[in-house]
Amino acid sequence: MHELSIVAELFTIIEEKAREAGASRVTKVRVLIGEISGVVPELFRTAFHSYKKGTIADRARLEIKITRVKFRCLRCGKEIKTRDISSPDFSHSCPFCGSKEVELQSGRDLYLEKLELET
Ligand SMILES: [Zn+2]
Repeated sequence: MHELSIVAELFTIIEEKAREAGASRVTKVRVLIGEISGVVPELFRTAFHSYKKGTIADRARLEIKITRVKFRCLRCGKEIKTRDISSPDFSHSCPFCGSKEVELQSGRDLYLEKLELET
């Protein structure tokens, strides 16, 4: 399961941050999961809760936020939101000025947004 290795990686970061902050416990973890990151939130949640046992985040709650796919046009600077990402016809062009130079801003990454710690 792909989610398990992501969770393992996440825990490396969590433990490092908790140690840096001198925390004795992690009470809440918030992650952002991009909608095209390939991570299934429910599998991620299951993996998280089985992995956390015996770690500093033993009793941590997990909050998942899904980030939508968003592009930015490099020519006009406008933000482009689309639900059409999976469509083979999606041309990645700006609906405002027609430029093909658009850049993916969010939706692909998974990252740790926030940790709540107890010292
Ligand atoms: Zn544009």
